[in-house]
Amino acid sequence: MQTASGRKFALGCDIGATKVSLALAFSRGVIEERVVDSTRRMRKPESLVSEVSAMISSMLGRKGLSRSDCVGIGVAFAGPVSFTEGKVIYGTNIPGWDDIPLAGMLSDALSIPASIMNDANVGALGEYRHGGHGQGDLLYVTISTGIGAGLVIGGRVYEGSSKVAGEIGHTTVAENGPSCGCGKRGCLETLSSGLSIARIASERMRRETSSLIDRAGANGETVNSAMVFEEARKGDMLSSEIVESACRYLGFALAGATMLMSFSTIVLGGGMAREGEYLRKRVEFYTRKELARGPNEKVRILVSRMPERVVDIGAIELAFDAASERESHGAV
Ligand SMILES: [Zn+2]
Repeated sequence: MQTASGRKFALGCDIGATKVSLALAFSRGVIEERVVDSTRRMRKPESLVSEVSAMISSMLGRKGLSRSDCVGIGVAFAGPVSFTEGKVIYGTNIPGWDDIPLAGMLSDALSIPASIMNDANVGALGEYRHGGHGQGDLLYVTISTGIGAGLVIGGRVYEGSSKVAGEIGHTTVAENGPSCGCGKRGCLETLSSGLSIARIASERMRRETSSLIDRAGANGETVNSAMVFEEARKGDMLSSEIVESACRYLGFALAGATMLMSFSTIVLGGGMAREGEYLRKRVEFYTRKELARGPNEKVRILVSRMPERVVDIGAIELAFDAASERESHGAV
């Protein structure tokens, strides 16, 4: 068997509230191997570091690779992160994660240089470098359970003064709308995320006629956003109305963001990107409706062609970028 030993490689790690994935790549944009560890418990920082270390040992053992050939690990974290300081600012969905110097903890424990960035920003980096969207300023919006965004301005991920740019999910789009986990009402996330679409469908199915009832039962307990999209495609009135409403609110937020930042491209990613062209067309329709006339109308609205891989690809970029930077500064 041919051994890959001696070849330099980078690792990418995606840390979410309920899962950790680890990817390995010998070159940018090409994931060689990926493993996912899904557990239901929330991790403490120290136990997460041990777990990532064990995942790395197991992967490198299987591939016959040595840690000394690893140029670095790029980490995508589901929550606010200061990239420059290498720390988690606080854990929105993960308790016990306030002010954690995760990059340093991982570097020390793994003997591998580590860089850390918010997962939506990492996704934006992956899309910008490997999504084939050109060099213009890019807004990457991830629509899954919640809604987040990453901005690439002038070729660089933009974190903003407080390091938390991209909180598009918590912009208010409906006065007195549903309550949000952030404490406000009417946030975009409460009206257009996958979880919100499922919640709205579940509530409305109890009192309205819909083919969704055949799928999920009259009380709507098992309904999810993919079912709502599927029934909308088949012409179910209630499902279409829910999808249209979610896309209309996305249009409000995306048009506002475009008028502020004059993006050349908006890429829709996350779990909902699986809805493909149907989602893209509806979001584009409502975004264009809300855009003021002028050069910002040139903005392209696309769906990610690699929604499942983009964060891994971005995390690998992060690791290779940090290694190149260390090299250019003459560090070991
Ligand atoms: Zn909110």
